[in-house]
Parts: sequence; C-alpha cells; structure tokens
Amino acid sequence: MELSVPMEPVTNSNPLERLEAPPMLYKPSSPVEVTVVENVRLTPEDYSEEIRHIVLDLKGTDYRYLEGQSMGVIAPGEDERGKPHRVRLYSIASPAMGEPDNPSHVALCVKRVVFEEGQETFYGLCSNYLCDVKPGDKVTISGPNGKRFVMPRDPDVDLLLFAAGTGIAPFRGFFMRLAGLPVEERSNIVLYYGSRRMEDHVYYNDINNDLGNLLDSKNVIHSALSRQDPGVKMHVQDRFRLEPGPVEEALKRGNFLVYICGIKGMEKGIEDVFRQIIGEDSWDATKQEWREKTIWNQEVY
Ligand SMILES: Cc1cc2nc3c(=O)[nH]c(=O)nc-3n(C[C@H](O)[C@H](O)[C@H](O)COP(=O)(O)OP(=O)(O)OC[C@H]3O[C@@H](n4cnc5c(N)ncnc54)[C@H](O)[C@@H]3O)c2cc1C
Repeated sequence: MELSVPMEPVTNSNPLERLEAPPMLYKPSSPVEVTVVENVRLTPEDYSEEIRHIVLDLKGTDYRYLEGQSMGVIAPGEDERGKPHRVRLYSIASPAMGEPDNPSHVALCVKRVVFEEGQETFYGLCSNYLCDVKPGDKVTISGPNGKRFVMPRDPDVDLLLFAAGTGIAPFRGFFMRLAGLPVEERSNIVLYYGSRRMEDHVYYNDINNDLGNLLDSKNVIHSALSRQDPGVKMHVQDRFRLEPGPVEEALKRGNFLVYICGIKGMEKGIEDVFRQIIGEDSWDATKQEWREKTIWNQEVY
C-alpha cells in the first residue's frame, strides 16, 4: 500500500490554493481497527500534566491523510444509552508520508484529561483510554477529518504558526513535511509555541526534540512558557508581541498563511497583536478578508 502523498510541483504562488485533503473514508458508523505500535510519555513521570506520543499502524487500511487533518477515535464500550461512544478528534502529528521509520505509522499527541469538580475527580473518557493503550492493542478510528487546516500547495508560502499545548501536534507534521524539501525550495516557518514549562514543551525539549532537530535557516521557534519563571507569565501572544519581527517580514512579503491550533480562546490574544501590527483602523477589514480567503485558519478546542 502506498501511503505517501507526494509533494506536488509548484504551479503558482497563490497561497490560497491548498493541497487536496483526502475525504473522510472511514465514517464513525464504519470505522476501522488499527494497531498500537508505541505509546510513550512526552512529559516527565513526576510532572502534573501527562501528554503522550501514540503511534498507530495503518497497515492494511486505506487510510490517507494530510498534515493538519484530524483522526477520530472511538473509545471502547457504550454510553449511557447503550450506543457506541461518540468520536473524539485528535490532530494527526505526522507528515502525510508517515513517520520517518515506517510510512504506515501515524502519530497522535494526546493529553490525559483529568480535572477536579467539587470533591470529585473527572477523567476524560477517550484521552484516558488512549493514554493507557499498549503496543499490540487495537484502536477503532475514523476519518480523516477536516479539509481546511491543511498546507498550501505552493511550498514557498510563509507559514505563521501559533500553537498552545497539544496544538503543536499538526505543526510537527508541517515541519516534517517541509523538512523533506531542499531549503531553497521552501517557505519560512515561524512558530510561536506556548506551554506551561519546558517539561510540557513537547517535541521541543530534552525528552523529545523532533522540532528542534528540524530547525534550520528557514524555521524559527519562539517559545512562551507561562509557568517556568515565577512572576513571568509568558503566553503565546506575549511572545508574539515581544518578537513580531518574522511575522512583520512575512506580511511585507505578502505570501503567507496564518494557522492557530490549541486552547480555545488563544486566538483572541494573537488577534490583538495582529491588530497592533496592521493598525487599529484597518484590522477589522483585514481580519474579515483573511477569514474569507482562508488566510486565517484556526483549530481551537
Ligand atoms: C479538531 C480537534 C483536534 C483535537 N486535537 C487534539 C490533540 O491533538 N490532542 C489532544 O489531546 N486533544 C485534542 N482534541 C481534544 C479531544 O478531541 C478531546 O476533546 C479530549 O481528549 C477530551 O476528550 P475525553 O474523551 O478525554 O474527555 P470527555 O470525556 O469528552 O470529557 C471532556 C469534558 O470535560 C470538560 N473539561 C475538560 N477539561 C476540563 C477542566 N480542566 N475543567 C472542567 N472541565 C473540563 C470539557 O469541557 C468536556 O466537556 C482535539 C479536538 C478537536 C475538536
């Protein structure tokens, strides 16, 4: 089975033209079973947040996806009405050609959802299921989902990326896809990436440095850590406000797309910085145009 989606030739420099995302082949009503290959913790054992890198083997399926699409996961068992649990979506963290060691392997980046409500501790159903799977286990998946949060057809479009928490997942795929191209043929990637501390700055720390290993003259990462230093609450938008240079350059060049992924609400702070850069008077019209033309893309949850 050929899983890879080849990089298409540069046909024009219209940033609005996207790669064609494969349609949803496996609907939640007709999902497919795949096998867990790996499940490793990306945050230290003694750290409060648990985020895991989970690799699934798509071998034997016709599952195709692009970077930026999501995968549906259906936890085993039934809900209170005796129906299968509803699908939860997880951003695909791999490039379309699969993980480097095996084209049929695809990675997800999953945070275990646990929170206190009054006296009770609540455990999210699907994230806890996924965080506990073992190599060899079967997982029921659907998808791929989403057609808009995908990369431009032209690899020379600057990508302005903003991630918080597990919102980094699709951008790992973006970085890995472009890393396969000669540096002179691809765009600049500017990534503003927020987490609490270095411990949960996943894919860009000592535990797993997949992003750091792909940095070169065309890629920059601006980190924002909100709880690293007492008294310094640095969120994605704060780092962007402090270091807007690469974005300003991309705006001047005029061939760019904006992608925001992660925690719901993060887009507001980022928008405020764009408003400052573009100017109060023209921002609302610009924002509307960016939305209409899908220059502005957000996936927040
Ligand atoms: C497009 C898309 C992509 C996504 N990508 C990822 C991804 O890459 N990685 C990832 O980990 N997740 C991702 N998610 C979120 C994921 O789909 C699930 O929503 C998440 O894992 C929780 O599902 P669950 O079954 O564990 O929890 P559920 O059993 O569904 O419970 C979650 C419920 O708890 C509530 N809740 C959660 N945290 C708290 C809190 N601290 N306090 C109070 N209430 C709370 C929520 O509002 C929700 O109602 C994505 C979501 C979308 C829509």
